[in-house]
Amino acid sequence: MNKKIFRSSLLVALLVLTASFVMMIGILFNYFQLQIEKELKNEAIYISAAIENEGTEYLKNIVNNEKRVTLISADGTVIADTSVEADELENHLDREEIKKALADGHGTSVRYSETLTEKVVYYAELLDDGSILRVSTKQYTVVTVLLGLSQSISVVILLTFILSFILSRRVSKSIVKPINELDLDNPENNNTYEELSPLLSKISSQHKTIEKQLHEAKKQQEEFSLIIENMSDGLLIIDKNMQVLMCNTSAKKLLNASENVNGNVFSVNRSKSFRQSVEKSLGGERFENEMVYDDRHYNIIANPVYEDSEIIGAFIVIIDITDTIQREQMRREFTSNVSHELKTPLTSISGFAEMMMNGGIDEATVKDFSKSIYDEAQRLISLVIDIIRISELDEKSNMFVKEKVDLYELSEEIIERLKPHADKKSIKMNIFGGKAQVYGVRKILDEIIYNLCDNAVKYNNNGGTVDIIVGTTDNETILTVRDNGIGIPKNAQKRVFERFYRVDKSRSKEKGGTGLGLSIVKHGAVFHNAQITLESQINEGTSITLKFPKQ
Ligand code: ADP
Repeated sequence: MNKKIFRSSLLVALLVLTASFVMMIGILFNYFQLQIEKELKNEAIYISAAIENEGTEYLKNIVNNEKRVTLISADGTVIADTSVEADELENHLDREEIKKALADGHGTSVRYSETLTEKVVYYAELLDDGSILRVSTKQYTVVTVLLGLSQSISVVILLTFILSFILSRRVSKSIVKPINELDLDNPENNNTYEELSPLLSKISSQHKTIEKQLHEAKKQQEEFSLIIENMSDGLLIIDKNMQVLMCNTSAKKLLNASENVNGNVFSVNRSKSFRQSVEKSLGGERFENEMVYDDRHYNIIANPVYEDSEIIGAFIVIIDITDTIQREQMRREFTSNVSHELKTPLTSISGFAEMMMNGGIDEATVKDFSKSIYDEAQRLISLVIDIIRISELDEKSNMFVKEKVDLYELSEEIIERLKPHADKKSIKMNIFGGKAQVYGVRKILDEIIYNLCDNAVKYNNNGGTVDIIVGTTDNETILTVRDNGIGIPKNAQKRVFERFYRVDKSRSKEKGGTGLGLSIVKHGAVFHNAQITLESQINEGTSITLKFPKQ
Protein backbone atom coordinates (compact mmCIF):
# COMPACT_ATOMS: atom_id res chain seq x y z
CA MET A 1 0.00 0.00 0.00
CA ASN A 2 2.81 2.33 1.00
CA LYS A 3 4.56 1.70 -2.34
CA LYS A 4 1.38 2.17 -4.30
CA ILE A 5 0.59 5.52 -2.66
CA PHE A 6 4.20 6.56 -3.15
CA ARG A 7 4.15 5.62 -6.83
CA SER A 8 0.78 7.30 -7.40
CA SER A 9 1.73 10.53 -5.67
CA LEU A 10 5.09 10.61 -7.48
CA LEU A 11 3.30 10.05 -10.79
CA VAL A 12 0.79 12.80 -10.00
CA ALA A 13 3.61 15.15 -9.00
CA LEU A 14 5.48 14.39 -12.25
CA LEU A 15 2.34 14.84 -14.36
CA VAL A 16 1.61 18.16 -12.66
CA LEU A 17 5.23 19.13 -13.14
CA THR A 18 5.15 18.27 -16.85
CA ALA A 19 1.84 20.09 -17.34
CA SER A 20 3.08 23.18 -15.52
CA PHE A 21 6.32 22.97 -17.46
CA VAL A 22 4.44 22.90 -20.77
CA MET A 23 2.20 25.77 -19.64
CA MET A 24 5.21 27.76 -18.44
CA ILE A 25 6.93 27.30 -21.78
CA GLY A 26 3.76 28.51 -23.53
CA ILE A 27 3.49 31.53 -21.25
CA LEU A 28 7.18 32.29 -21.68
CA PHE A 29 6.86 31.94 -25.41
CA ASN A 30 3.93 34.37 -25.52
CA TYR A 31 5.78 36.69 -23.22
CA PHE A 32 8.83 36.68 -25.49
CA GLN A 33 6.57 37.30 -28.51
CA LEU A 34 5.06 40.35 -26.85
CA GLN A 35 8.46 41.54 -25.76
CA ILE A 36 9.75 41.24 -29.32
CA GLU A 37 6.79 43.16 -30.67
CA LYS A 38 7.30 45.85 -28.02
CA GLU A 39 10.97 46.02 -28.79
CA LEU A 40 10.29 46.22 -32.53
CA LYS A 41 7.78 49.03 -31.94
CA ASN A 42 10.23 51.03 -29.79
CA GLU A 43 12.92 50.53 -32.31
CA ALA A 44 10.59 51.62 -35.12
CA ILE A 45 9.81 54.83 -33.19
CA TYR A 46 13.54 55.60 -32.69
CA ILE A 47 14.41 54.80 -36.30
CA SER A 48 11.49 56.88 -37.69
CA ALA A 49 12.68 59.84 -35.58
CA ALA A 50 16.21 59.33 -36.90
CA ILE A 51 15.02 59.10 -40.53
CA GLU A 52 13.09 62.31 -40.06
CA ASN A 53 16.30 64.01 -38.90
CA GLU A 54 18.92 62.34 -41.05
CA GLY A 55 16.95 60.99 -43.99
CA THR A 56 17.23 57.47 -45.44
CA GLU A 57 21.00 57.65 -45.12
CA TYR A 58 20.54 56.72 -41.48
CA LEU A 59 19.48 53.24 -42.52
CA LYS A 60 22.84 52.57 -44.11
CA ASN A 61 24.57 53.12 -40.76
CA ILE A 62 22.51 50.56 -38.94
CA VAL A 63 24.61 47.50 -38.30
CA ASN A 64 22.52 44.91 -36.58
CA ASN A 65 22.44 41.27 -37.51
CA GLU A 66 19.50 40.60 -35.30
CA LYS A 67 17.08 43.14 -36.77
CA ARG A 68 16.16 44.00 -40.33
CA VAL A 69 14.84 47.49 -41.11
CA THR A 70 12.92 48.18 -44.32
CA LEU A 71 11.57 51.49 -45.59
CA ILE A 72 8.65 51.14 -47.96
CA SER A 73 6.97 53.86 -49.95
CA ALA A 74 3.20 54.36 -49.85
CA ASP A 75 2.86 52.42 -53.17
CA GLY A 76 4.66 49.39 -51.72
CA THR A 77 8.05 49.93 -53.39
CA VAL A 78 10.96 49.10 -51.09
CA ILE A 79 13.02 52.29 -50.66
CA ALA A 80 15.75 50.88 -48.46
CA ASP A 81 16.52 47.63 -46.59
CA THR A 82 19.28 46.81 -44.10
CA SER A 83 19.63 43.18 -45.14
CA VAL A 84 19.06 43.06 -48.88
CA GLU A 85 19.53 45.53 -51.76
CA ALA A 86 16.22 47.46 -52.11
CA ASP A 87 15.84 46.95 -55.84
CA GLU A 88 16.06 43.20 -55.40
CA LEU A 89 12.92 43.25 -53.38
CA GLU A 90 9.44 43.05 -54.88
CA ASN A 91 6.50 45.31 -54.06
CA HIS A 92 5.50 44.95 -50.40
CA LEU A 93 1.98 46.28 -50.57
CA ASP A 94 0.45 42.85 -50.17
CA ARG A 95 2.34 42.21 -46.91
CA GLU A 96 -0.07 41.86 -43.99
CA GLU A 97 1.79 44.25 -41.64
CA ILE A 98 2.00 46.87 -44.41
CA LYS A 99 -1.71 46.60 -45.08
CA LYS A 100 -2.45 47.03 -41.36
CA ALA A 101 -0.05 50.00 -41.06
CA LEU A 102 -1.66 51.73 -44.03
CA ALA A 103 -5.10 51.14 -42.46
CA ASP A 104 -4.38 51.68 -38.72
CA GLY A 105 -1.04 53.50 -38.59
CA HIS A 106 0.84 50.36 -37.43
CA GLY A 107 0.60 46.61 -37.86
CA THR A 108 2.29 43.35 -36.87
CA SER A 109 2.52 39.93 -38.42
CA VAL A 110 4.47 36.75 -38.02
CA ARG A 111 5.29 34.66 -41.05
CA TYR A 112 7.85 32.74 -42.88
CA SER A 113 10.21 35.10 -44.69
CA GLU A 114 11.36 33.91 -48.07
CA THR A 115 14.16 36.46 -47.94
CA LEU A 116 15.46 35.36 -44.58
CA THR A 117 14.13 31.77 -44.89
CA GLU A 118 13.05 31.90 -41.28
CA LYS A 119 9.98 32.66 -39.21
CA VAL A 120 10.01 36.38 -38.69
CA VAL A 121 8.07 38.91 -36.59
CA TYR A 122 7.31 42.12 -38.46
CA TYR A 123 6.30 45.50 -37.09
CA ALA A 124 5.29 48.31 -39.53
CA GLU A 125 4.74 51.97 -38.66
CA LEU A 126 3.16 54.58 -40.98
CA LEU A 127 5.44 57.60 -41.09
CA ASP A 128 4.21 61.19 -41.46
CA ASP A 129 5.34 61.39 -45.10
CA GLY A 130 3.14 58.38 -45.99
CA SER A 131 6.02 55.90 -46.20
CA ILE A 132 6.12 52.85 -43.95
CA LEU A 133 8.97 51.83 -41.69
CA ARG A 134 9.13 48.12 -41.01
CA VAL A 135 11.35 46.51 -38.36
CA SER A 136 11.59 42.74 -38.23
CA THR A 137 13.48 40.10 -36.36
CA LYS A 138 13.69 36.34 -36.20
CA GLN A 139 11.04 34.74 -34.02
CA TYR A 140 12.26 32.57 -31.13
CA THR A 141 10.89 29.04 -31.53
CA VAL A 142 9.89 26.95 -28.53
CA VAL A 143 12.99 24.86 -29.08
CA THR A 144 15.09 28.02 -29.08
CA VAL A 145 13.50 29.12 -25.86
CA LEU A 146 14.02 25.68 -24.40
CA LEU A 147 17.60 25.47 -25.53
CA GLY A 148 18.22 28.90 -24.10
CA LEU A 149 16.82 27.86 -20.76
CA SER A 150 17.99 24.25 -20.91
CA GLN A 151 20.49 24.50 -18.07
CA SER A 152 18.16 26.20 -15.62
CA ILE A 153 15.27 23.98 -16.72
CA SER A 154 17.37 20.86 -16.11
CA VAL A 155 18.29 22.07 -12.64
CA VAL A 156 14.64 22.93 -11.88
CA ILE A 157 13.46 19.53 -13.21
CA LEU A 158 16.03 17.68 -11.16
CA LEU A 159 15.28 19.64 -8.01
CA THR A 160 11.53 19.25 -8.51
CA PHE A 161 11.96 15.51 -9.11
CA ILE A 162 14.00 15.10 -5.94
CA LEU A 163 11.51 17.20 -3.99
CA SER A 164 8.57 15.23 -5.40
CA PHE A 165 10.33 11.98 -4.54
CA ILE A 166 10.97 13.04 -0.94
CA LEU A 167 7.55 14.59 -0.46
CA SER A 168 5.77 11.60 -2.06
CA ARG A 169 7.61 9.27 0.28
CA ARG A 170 6.72 11.36 3.29
CA VAL A 171 3.12 11.76 2.22
CA SER A 172 2.63 8.05 1.51
CA LYS A 173 4.23 7.19 4.85
CA SER A 174 2.10 9.67 6.73
CA ILE A 175 -1.03 8.34 5.00
CA VAL A 176 -0.20 4.73 5.78
CA LYS A 177 1.03 5.32 9.34
CA PRO A 178 -2.40 5.75 11.00
CA ILE A 179 -3.61 2.69 9.06
CA ASN A 180 -0.67 0.64 10.31
CA GLU A 181 -1.31 1.85 13.83
CA LEU A 182 -4.98 0.80 13.80
CA ASP A 183 -5.98 -1.22 16.87
CA LEU A 184 -8.00 -3.92 15.13
CA ASP A 185 -8.73 -5.66 18.42
CA ASN A 186 -10.72 -2.60 19.48
CA PRO A 187 -11.79 -1.15 16.13
CA GLU A 188 -14.14 1.41 17.65
CA ASN A 189 -11.43 2.98 19.80
CA ASN A 190 -9.49 4.22 16.74
CA ASN A 191 -9.39 7.89 15.93
CA THR A 192 -8.45 7.77 12.27
CA TYR A 193 -9.65 8.69 8.76
CA GLU A 194 -13.36 9.25 8.52
CA GLU A 195 -13.38 7.13 5.35
CA LEU A 196 -12.26 4.13 7.39
CA SER A 197 -15.20 4.39 9.82
CA PRO A 198 -17.55 2.07 7.84
CA LEU A 199 -14.77 -0.50 7.53
CA LEU A 200 -13.94 -0.27 11.25
CA SER A 201 -17.60 -0.55 12.19
CA LYS A 202 -17.87 -3.62 9.98
CA ILE A 203 -14.77 -5.14 11.60
CA SER A 204 -16.16 -4.31 15.04
CA SER A 205 -19.50 -5.97 14.31
CA GLN A 206 -17.72 -8.97 12.83
CA HIS A 207 -15.54 -9.12 15.95
CA LYS A 208 -18.66 -9.23 18.08
CA THR A 209 -20.23 -11.93 15.90
CA ILE A 210 -17.04 -14.01 15.97
CA GLU A 211 -16.73 -13.54 19.75
CA LYS A 212 -20.35 -14.59 20.21
CA GLN A 213 -19.92 -17.61 17.99
CA LEU A 214 -16.69 -18.54 19.74
CA HIS A 215 -18.39 -18.19 23.11
CA GLU A 216 -21.28 -20.41 21.93
CA ALA A 217 -18.89 -22.98 20.49
CA LYS A 218 -16.83 -22.94 23.69
CA LYS A 219 -19.96 -23.32 25.79
CA GLN A 220 -21.14 -26.24 23.70
CA GLN A 221 -17.70 -27.80 23.84
CA GLU A 222 -17.63 -27.39 27.63
CA GLU A 223 -21.10 -28.85 27.98
CA PHE A 224 -20.11 -31.75 25.75
CA SER A 225 -16.89 -32.32 27.73
CA LEU A 226 -18.79 -32.08 31.00
CA ILE A 227 -21.29 -34.69 29.85
CA ILE A 228 -18.54 -36.96 28.51
CA GLU A 229 -16.44 -36.51 31.67
CA ASN A 230 -19.37 -37.20 33.98
CA MET A 231 -20.49 -40.30 32.15
CA SER A 232 -20.25 -43.34 34.38
CA ASP A 233 -19.48 -45.36 31.26
CA GLY A 234 -16.09 -45.19 29.64
CA LEU A 235 -15.80 -43.53 26.24
CA LEU A 236 -12.82 -43.80 23.95
CA ILE A 237 -12.48 -42.28 20.49
CA ILE A 238 -9.69 -43.42 18.20
CA ASP A 239 -8.61 -42.58 14.66
CA LYS A 240 -8.08 -45.10 11.87
CA ASN A 241 -4.43 -45.48 12.90
CA MET A 242 -5.52 -46.62 16.38
CA GLN A 243 -4.34 -43.36 17.97
CA VAL A 244 -6.38 -42.19 20.96
CA LEU A 245 -8.22 -38.94 20.19
CA MET A 246 -10.29 -38.81 23.37
CA CYS A 247 -10.51 -40.89 26.53
CA ASN A 248 -12.83 -39.83 29.34
CA THR A 249 -12.09 -40.21 33.06
CA SER A 250 -14.39 -43.22 33.42
CA ALA A 251 -12.59 -45.07 30.62
CA LYS A 252 -9.24 -44.39 32.27
CA LYS A 253 -10.61 -45.59 35.60
CA LEU A 254 -12.35 -48.68 34.22
CA LEU A 255 -9.37 -49.74 32.13
CA ASN A 256 -6.92 -48.76 34.86
CA ALA A 257 -5.05 -46.52 32.43
CA SER A 258 -2.64 -43.71 33.32
CA GLU A 259 -3.85 -40.10 33.57
CA ASN A 260 -2.21 -39.03 30.30
CA VAL A 261 -3.62 -41.31 27.69
CA ASN A 262 -2.32 -40.65 24.20
CA GLY A 263 -0.67 -42.56 21.46
CA ASN A 264 -1.66 -46.09 20.52
CA VAL A 265 -4.96 -47.37 21.94
CA PHE A 266 -3.35 -50.60 23.10
CA SER A 267 -1.29 -48.62 25.59
CA VAL A 268 -4.65 -48.17 27.37
CA ASN A 269 -5.50 -51.86 27.51
CA ARG A 270 -3.97 -54.93 25.92
CA SER A 271 -6.55 -57.60 26.72
CA LYS A 272 -7.65 -59.92 23.92
CA SER A 273 -11.29 -58.83 24.01
CA PHE A 274 -10.35 -55.13 23.89
CA ARG A 275 -7.97 -55.70 20.99
CA GLN A 276 -10.65 -57.68 19.16
CA SER A 277 -13.22 -54.88 19.63
CA VAL A 278 -10.81 -52.25 18.27
CA GLU A 279 -9.81 -54.33 15.26
CA LYS A 280 -13.36 -55.36 14.35
CA SER A 281 -14.75 -51.80 14.61
CA LEU A 282 -11.92 -50.39 12.47
CA GLY A 283 -12.77 -53.15 10.03
CA GLY A 284 -16.25 -51.64 9.75
CA GLU A 285 -18.16 -53.93 12.11
CA ARG A 286 -20.19 -52.96 15.18
CA PHE A 287 -18.81 -55.30 17.81
CA GLU A 288 -20.01 -56.13 21.32
CA ASN A 289 -17.82 -58.07 23.62
CA GLU A 290 -17.45 -58.94 27.29
CA MET A 291 -14.20 -58.40 29.10
CA VAL A 292 -13.14 -59.53 32.57
CA TYR A 293 -10.44 -57.39 34.04
CA ASP A 294 -9.29 -57.10 37.69
CA ASP A 295 -12.27 -59.24 38.83
CA ARG A 296 -14.69 -56.86 37.19
CA HIS A 297 -16.90 -57.46 34.18
CA TYR A 298 -17.14 -54.99 31.32
CA ASN A 299 -19.27 -54.79 28.25
CA ILE A 300 -17.35 -53.29 25.34
CA ILE A 301 -19.33 -51.83 22.45
CA ALA A 302 -17.18 -50.67 19.55
CA ASN A 303 -18.61 -48.79 16.58
CA PRO A 304 -16.87 -47.69 13.39
CA VAL A 305 -17.04 -43.96 12.47
CA TYR A 306 -17.54 -43.16 8.80
CA GLU A 307 -16.92 -40.06 6.73
CA ASP A 308 -18.03 -40.21 3.09
CA SER A 309 -18.35 -44.00 3.39
CA GLU A 310 -14.74 -44.25 4.53
CA ILE A 311 -13.81 -45.40 8.05
CA ILE A 312 -12.00 -42.59 9.84
CA GLY A 313 -11.95 -44.11 13.32
CA ALA A 314 -14.05 -45.77 15.98
CA PHE A 315 -15.69 -45.01 19.28
CA ILE A 316 -15.65 -47.52 22.07
CA VAL A 317 -18.04 -47.55 25.01
CA ILE A 318 -17.02 -49.48 28.11
CA ILE A 319 -19.82 -50.33 30.55
CA ASP A 320 -19.10 -51.81 33.97
CA ILE A 321 -21.60 -54.66 34.29
CA THR A 322 -20.09 -56.17 37.46
CA ASP A 323 -23.03 -55.08 39.65
CA THR A 324 -25.58 -56.47 37.20
CA ILE A 325 -23.74 -59.76 37.02
CA GLN A 326 -23.38 -59.90 40.81
CA ARG A 327 -27.05 -59.08 41.28
CA GLU A 328 -27.96 -61.81 38.82
CA GLN A 329 -25.72 -64.22 40.70
CA MET A 330 -27.25 -63.18 44.03
CA ARG A 331 -30.72 -63.64 42.61
CA ARG A 332 -29.82 -67.13 41.43
CA GLU A 333 -28.22 -67.98 44.78
CA PHE A 334 -31.22 -66.55 46.61
CA THR A 335 -33.65 -68.65 44.56
CA SER A 336 -31.62 -71.78 45.13
CA ASN A 337 -31.25 -70.94 48.87
CA VAL A 338 -34.97 -70.26 49.22
CA SER A 339 -35.79 -73.53 47.48
CA HIS A 340 -33.42 -75.34 49.78
CA GLU A 341 -34.70 -73.60 52.93
CA LEU A 342 -38.28 -74.35 51.96
CA LYS A 343 -37.55 -77.94 50.98
CA THR A 344 -36.05 -78.95 54.35
CA PRO A 345 -39.07 -78.18 56.56
CA LEU A 346 -41.47 -79.37 53.86
CA THR A 347 -39.63 -82.72 53.63
CA SER A 348 -39.89 -83.09 57.43
CA ILE A 349 -43.57 -82.16 57.43
CA SER A 350 -44.24 -84.58 54.57
CA GLY A 351 -42.29 -87.39 56.34
CA PHE A 352 -44.14 -86.97 59.66
CA ALA A 353 -47.49 -86.70 57.89
CA GLU A 354 -46.75 -89.86 55.85
CA MET A 355 -45.90 -91.84 58.97
CA MET A 356 -49.08 -90.66 60.65
CA MET A 357 -51.05 -91.51 57.51
CA ASN A 358 -49.67 -95.05 57.46
CA GLY A 359 -50.96 -95.49 61.06
CA GLY A 360 -49.61 -97.92 63.61
CA ILE A 361 -48.17 -95.24 65.89
CA ASP A 362 -49.24 -94.58 69.41
CA GLU A 363 -50.98 -91.46 70.56
CA ALA A 364 -47.89 -89.99 72.29
CA THR A 365 -45.82 -90.34 69.06
CA VAL A 366 -48.65 -88.77 67.05
CA LYS A 367 -48.49 -85.84 69.49
CA ASP A 368 -44.71 -85.57 69.04
CA PHE A 369 -45.07 -85.76 65.26
CA SER A 370 -47.82 -83.14 65.29
CA LYS A 371 -45.59 -80.82 67.35
CA SER A 372 -42.75 -81.34 64.88
CA ILE A 373 -45.09 -80.62 61.99
CA TYR A 374 -46.29 -77.49 63.82
CA ASP A 375 -42.71 -76.31 64.53
CA GLU A 376 -41.63 -76.87 60.91
CA ALA A 377 -44.76 -75.08 59.68
CA GLN A 378 -43.96 -72.15 62.01
CA ARG A 379 -40.43 -72.05 60.59
CA LEU A 380 -41.88 -72.03 57.10
CA ILE A 381 -44.19 -69.15 58.06
CA SER A 382 -41.27 -67.11 59.54
CA LEU A 383 -39.20 -67.90 56.46
CA VAL A 384 -41.94 -66.81 54.08
CA ILE A 385 -42.53 -63.62 56.16
CA ASP A 386 -38.79 -62.79 56.04
CA ILE A 387 -38.63 -63.48 52.30
CA ILE A 388 -41.62 -61.18 51.78
CA ARG A 389 -39.91 -58.46 53.86
CA ILE A 390 -36.69 -58.72 51.88
CA SER A 391 -38.56 -58.64 48.56
CA GLU A 392 -40.49 -55.60 49.75
CA LEU A 393 -37.25 -53.82 50.60
CA ASP A 394 -35.77 -54.88 47.27
CA GLU A 395 -38.62 -53.90 45.05
CA LYS A 396 -41.02 -51.53 46.78
CA SER A 397 -38.54 -49.30 48.59
CA ASN A 398 -39.84 -46.16 46.84
CA MET A 399 -43.41 -46.89 47.88
CA PHE A 400 -42.79 -46.47 51.63
CA VAL A 401 -43.94 -43.28 53.31
CA LYS A 402 -41.32 -41.53 55.42
CA GLU A 403 -42.09 -39.79 58.72
CA LYS A 404 -40.36 -38.62 61.89
CA VAL A 405 -39.77 -41.66 64.08
CA ASP A 406 -38.41 -41.53 67.64
CA LEU A 407 -36.03 -44.48 67.97
CA TYR A 408 -36.21 -44.32 71.78
CA GLU A 409 -39.98 -44.73 71.81
CA LEU A 410 -39.85 -47.43 69.13
CA SER A 411 -37.19 -49.36 71.08
CA GLU A 412 -39.37 -49.24 74.22
CA GLU A 413 -42.27 -50.79 72.25
CA ILE A 414 -39.99 -53.52 70.86
CA ILE A 415 -38.68 -54.32 74.37
CA GLU A 416 -42.31 -54.83 75.44
CA ARG A 417 -42.94 -57.19 72.50
CA LEU A 418 -39.79 -59.23 73.16
CA LYS A 419 -40.26 -59.32 76.91
CA PRO A 420 -41.94 -62.82 76.93
CA HIS A 421 -38.92 -64.31 75.03
CA ALA A 422 -36.41 -62.48 77.22
CA ASP A 423 -38.21 -63.51 80.42
CA LYS A 424 -38.07 -67.15 79.37
CA LYS A 425 -34.25 -66.90 79.47
CA SER A 426 -34.23 -64.42 82.38
CA ILE A 427 -32.60 -61.88 80.10
CA LYS A 428 -32.77 -58.26 81.21
CA MET A 429 -33.47 -55.69 78.53
CA ASN A 430 -32.41 -52.07 79.20
CA ILE A 431 -32.75 -48.85 77.26
CA PHE A 432 -30.41 -45.84 77.63
CA GLY A 433 -30.40 -42.36 76.11
CA GLY A 434 -33.32 -40.16 75.15
CA LYS A 435 -35.44 -38.89 72.33
CA ALA A 436 -33.66 -39.58 69.02
CA GLN A 437 -35.58 -38.78 65.89
CA VAL A 438 -34.97 -40.27 62.48
CA TYR A 439 -36.80 -39.26 59.30
CA GLY A 440 -37.64 -42.70 57.93
CA VAL A 441 -40.08 -45.52 57.43
CA ARG A 442 -41.47 -46.71 60.77
CA LYS A 443 -42.11 -50.27 59.54
CA ILE A 444 -38.51 -50.73 58.34
CA LEU A 445 -37.00 -49.08 61.44
CA ASP A 446 -39.16 -51.39 63.56
CA GLU A 447 -37.85 -54.45 61.70
CA ILE A 448 -34.24 -53.29 62.09
CA ILE A 449 -34.47 -52.81 65.86
CA TYR A 450 -36.66 -55.91 66.36
CA ASN A 451 -34.23 -58.20 64.46
CA LEU A 452 -31.19 -56.79 66.32
CA CYS A 453 -32.90 -57.21 69.72
CA ASP A 454 -34.33 -60.62 68.76
CA ASN A 455 -30.83 -61.85 67.88
CA ALA A 456 -29.40 -60.32 71.06
CA VAL A 457 -31.94 -62.37 73.04
CA LYS A 458 -31.71 -65.50 70.85
CA TYR A 459 -27.93 -65.75 70.91
CA ASN A 460 -27.62 -64.81 74.58
CA ASN A 461 -27.04 -66.92 77.64
CA ASN A 462 -29.66 -67.41 80.31
CA GLY A 463 -29.62 -64.47 82.70
CA GLY A 464 -27.81 -62.27 80.17
CA THR A 465 -28.50 -58.62 79.36
CA VAL A 466 -29.47 -56.67 76.28
CA ASP A 467 -28.82 -52.92 76.22
CA ILE A 468 -30.31 -50.52 73.69
CA ILE A 469 -28.49 -47.19 73.61
CA VAL A 470 -30.08 -44.35 71.66
CA GLY A 471 -28.61 -40.91 71.19
CA THR A 472 -27.81 -38.06 68.84
CA THR A 473 -24.78 -36.01 67.82
CA ASP A 474 -24.75 -32.87 65.65
CA ASN A 475 -24.85 -34.91 62.47
CA GLU A 476 -26.17 -38.31 63.39
CA THR A 477 -28.76 -40.31 65.28
CA ILE A 478 -27.12 -43.38 66.78
CA LEU A 479 -28.63 -46.68 67.89
CA THR A 480 -26.64 -49.51 69.46
CA VAL A 481 -27.93 -52.96 70.46
CA ARG A 482 -25.44 -54.65 72.77
CA ASP A 483 -25.58 -58.10 74.39
CA ASN A 484 -23.27 -60.21 76.48
CA GLY A 485 -24.14 -63.42 74.65
CA ILE A 486 -22.20 -66.04 72.71
CA GLY A 487 -20.54 -63.62 70.28
CA ILE A 488 -19.66 -64.09 66.60
CA PRO A 489 -16.33 -65.54 65.50
CA LYS A 490 -14.04 -63.08 63.69
CA ASN A 491 -14.14 -64.94 60.33
CA ALA A 492 -17.97 -64.89 60.28
CA GLN A 493 -18.41 -61.24 61.24
CA LYS A 494 -18.35 -60.00 57.64
CA ARG A 495 -20.70 -62.69 56.38
CA VAL A 496 -23.52 -62.50 58.96
CA PHE A 497 -25.27 -59.84 56.85
CA GLU A 498 -25.47 -62.18 53.82
CA ARG A 499 -28.80 -63.82 53.07
CA PHE A 500 -29.23 -67.23 54.70
CA TYR A 501 -25.82 -67.11 56.33
CA ARG A 502 -25.76 -68.62 59.79
CA VAL A 503 -22.72 -69.19 61.99
CA ASP A 504 -24.15 -72.40 63.42
CA LYS A 505 -26.97 -73.65 61.22
CA SER A 506 -28.47 -76.16 63.65
CA ARG A 507 -28.27 -73.71 66.53
CA SER A 508 -29.99 -70.99 64.49
CA LYS A 509 -32.61 -73.49 63.37
CA GLU A 510 -33.20 -74.55 66.93
CA LYS A 511 -33.68 -70.89 67.87
CA GLY A 512 -36.15 -70.43 64.98
CA GLY A 513 -33.76 -68.37 62.88
CA THR A 514 -34.08 -68.10 59.09
CA GLY A 515 -30.68 -66.58 58.29
CA LEU A 516 -32.41 -63.51 56.89
CA GLY A 517 -32.66 -61.28 60.01
CA LEU A 518 -29.36 -59.38 59.64
CA SER A 519 -29.85 -59.24 55.88
CA ILE A 520 -33.14 -57.37 56.52
CA VAL A 521 -31.23 -55.09 58.96
CA LYS A 522 -28.60 -54.33 56.28
CA HIS A 523 -31.22 -53.60 53.64
CA GLY A 524 -33.10 -51.30 56.03
CA ALA A 525 -29.87 -49.47 56.91
CA VAL A 526 -29.00 -48.96 53.22
CA PHE A 527 -32.54 -47.66 52.64
CA HIS A 528 -31.99 -45.04 55.39
CA ASN A 529 -28.38 -44.28 54.34
CA ALA A 530 -27.31 -45.53 57.75
CA GLN A 531 -23.90 -46.96 58.46
CA ILE A 532 -23.62 -50.34 60.26
CA THR A 533 -20.71 -51.43 62.43
CA LEU A 534 -20.40 -54.75 64.27
CA GLU A 535 -18.12 -55.53 67.18
CA SER A 536 -18.09 -58.97 68.70
CA GLN A 537 -16.02 -61.24 70.90
CA ILE A 538 -16.67 -64.93 71.34
CA ASN A 539 -18.34 -65.60 74.72
CA GLU A 540 -18.29 -61.91 75.58
CA GLY A 541 -21.02 -60.53 73.44
CA THR A 542 -21.95 -58.57 70.35
CA SER A 543 -22.61 -54.92 69.74
CA ILE A 544 -24.19 -53.65 66.51
CA THR A 545 -24.41 -49.88 65.88
CA LEU A 546 -26.37 -47.95 63.28
CA LYS A 547 -25.59 -44.32 62.50
CA PHE A 548 -28.39 -42.44 60.70
CA PRO A 549 -27.34 -39.20 59.03
CA LYS A 550 -29.47 -36.20 60.09
CA GLN A 551 -31.55 -34.75 57.24
P1 ADP B 1 -30.91 -65.89 62.02
O1 ADP B 1 -32.27 -65.84 61.53
O2 ADP B 1 -30.21 -67.17 61.83
O3 ADP B 1 -30.68 -65.27 63.32
P2 ADP B 1 -29.54 -63.57 61.12
O4 ADP B 1 -29.30 -63.05 59.74
O5 ADP B 1 -30.32 -62.71 62.02
O6 ADP B 1 -30.12 -64.99 60.98
O7 ADP B 1 -28.12 -63.77 61.75
C1 ADP B 1 -27.16 -64.48 61.03
C2 ADP B 1 -26.26 -65.22 61.97
O8 ADP B 1 -25.46 -64.32 62.72
C3 ADP B 1 -27.02 -65.98 62.99
O9 ADP B 1 -27.33 -67.29 62.52
C4 ADP B 1 -26.05 -66.04 64.16
O10 ADP B 1 -25.19 -67.14 64.00
C5 ADP B 1 -25.29 -64.79 64.05
N1 ADP B 1 -25.76 -63.73 64.99
C6 ADP B 1 -26.59 -62.75 64.71
N2 ADP B 1 -26.75 -61.93 65.78
C7 ADP B 1 -26.00 -62.44 66.77
C8 ADP B 1 -25.74 -62.04 68.12
N3 ADP B 1 -26.30 -60.97 68.67
N4 ADP B 1 -24.91 -62.81 68.83
C9 ADP B 1 -24.31 -63.87 68.28
N5 ADP B 1 -24.51 -64.30 67.02
C10 ADP B 1 -25.34 -63.59 66.27
